[in-house]
Amino acid sequence: MIENWRDAFVDLSYLVASVLFIFGLKRLSSPATARQGNRLAMIGMAVAVVATFFAREIESNNIVLIVIGIAIGAAIGYVPARRVKMTAMPQMVAIFNGMGGATAALVSVAEFSHKTDVPGGEALSIILGVIIGSISLTGSVIAFLKLQELMSGRPVTFPNQKAINAALFAAIALLGLLALVLYQDQLTLARSLVILMFLASLVLGALLVVPIGGADMPVVIALLNSATGLAAALTGFVLNNQALVVAGALVGASGTLLTLLMARAMNRKVTNVIFGAFGAGPAAGAAAGGAAEAKPIREISVEDAAVPLAYAQRVIIVPGYGLAVAQAQHSVRELADILSQRGVDVRYAIHPVAGRMPGHMNVLLAEANVPYDELYEMDDINDDFGKTDVALVIGANDVTNPAARTDTSSPIYGMPILNVDQAANVIVLKRSMKSGFAGIENELFHHPKTTMLFGDAKVSLGKLIGAVKAA
Ligand code: NDP
Repeated sequence: MIENWRDAFVDLSYLVASVLFIFGLKRLSSPATARQGNRLAMIGMAVAVVATFFAREIESNNIVLIVIGIAIGAAIGYVPARRVKMTAMPQMVAIFNGMGGATAALVSVAEFSHKTDVPGGEALSIILGVIIGSISLTGSVIAFLKLQELMSGRPVTFPNQKAINAALFAAIALLGLLALVLYQDQLTLARSLVILMFLASLVLGALLVVPIGGADMPVVIALLNSATGLAAALTGFVLNNQALVVAGALVGASGTLLTLLMARAMNRKVTNVIFGAFGAGPAAGAAAGGAAEAKPIREISVEDAAVPLAYAQRVIIVPGYGLAVAQAQHSVRELADILSQRGVDVRYAIHPVAGRMPGHMNVLLAEANVPYDELYEMDDINDDFGKTDVALVIGANDVTNPAARTDTSSPIYGMPILNVDQAANVIVLKRSMKSGFAGIENELFHHPKTTMLFGDAKVSLGKLIGAVKAA
């Protein structure tokens, strides 16, 4: 009777947790409700974790070990999560994602190593969990190293790379298949095969991500995220934990949707991202150097930048990664407020891959309480640049690069960009002529109607605010 009550409590808690995950995810889709969504999902996770302690499968003498594990993991996660800068968030997401993959793979290996009576479906879940979890682990670690610049962000290629990857994949599939066929009669052999498969998958994860170049990283992170979700869901089947199945499936599905959205935003096919070695040619990255300095540019003073802004009818602000680096979100809002008070129509154009993570600009501007109705997605505002007096580009580069439209040899060719060059005047705030994430020159900066205001975005905006007030 008590056991039945216990099971019912655990099942009900998992159901509550799942509902909280779903509502949390739904609320994440708008900046206005995102915080609340995060809180709901956190509560859901807390409910699921607490309920698991009451699950029948948990042996009471293991509870101390589990609590110690949770305490160590929480301490390790808490400190960097508190300290991480917004600009380093993609690396953080990548490494946390890798830990999720590691957990799924290790739990699957451990389950296969100690269970003696494994049903066929469970064995398949274990094998897939090991493969997907370990690929996600080492793939995420490589993504982390690249984003953290601990290894080159450029694609690493070597002869017969695709053939080697294909052969390794075939070997992993074969090992998995053999383990599945053999485990009922020859469990020890099957266990060794799973360990081999685990090691081979770790190597494959790293090999799959090393040839992927910088500009494709957003898509890769989203893809690895969906892989981890899938691996977690498979582990949920193995552990008979419904909350894990639901949470994993939600992460897998939302990661897949995000992958497709990001790929569409960058006009890239997901298959090209995985197999393309984007930016491997000498063109990518090379053009940013001396050639850029040689072409003419028009540098402008703060006072001269303030005049067209102060007397404009319409201004579109284009924020980019540099705005996040400079932490200039409050300054940009102050400038926008002052311009609005002068009767200027001010809007923000948000490119889907501006910054270094999906929604980066939305989060940043929300932090400064920029009204949501002033933020426009690329497709909704791109036709309005032609009717705009000033496009104010703040720390954005790649997302404004016209080469994406015209230069078939450019690594970003085909990526939809903000039509900044169609505005009557373009004012660019950045520190130097250095390139952005894709490492390529931006013709926009040499365009006759573009003026450059050099300096840290926050400092420049501070001066601009004073100059606009005085204009
Ligand atoms: P970019 O990386 O193209 O350019 C940012 C610019 O900001 C640089 O040229 C830099 O120039 C300038 N900058 C840096 N610090 C400052 C500062 N303190 N003050 C003023 N300017 C500064 O940014 P975009 O947002 O235009 O494009 C995003 C890029 O990142 C795309 O290529 C995208 O694919 C990629 N990416 C996006 C992810 C996402 O999910 N959103 C994830 C990973 C990559 P300077 O040094 O001269 O100041």
